[in-house]
Amino acid sequence: MAVPFRRTSKTRKNKRRTHYKLMVPGMVKCPECGELKLAHRVCKECGSYKGNEVVSK
Ligand SMILES: [Zn+2]
Repeated sequence: MAVPFRRTSKTRKNKRRTHYKLMVPGMVKCPECGELKLAHRVCKECGSYKGNEVVSK
């Protein structure tokens, strides 16, 4: 297995990691009630999905 010739410097390491960011997993606003919900899932506040498909509460 190949081994790195030089140790990666702090600067280089930190520069590489500038793309690592904190993020919320796919949260979107519900078009019905405006609550934050997970994308592609039925809203748990009002039970709607894509407009009017209602799951009883
Ligand atoms: Zn909703």
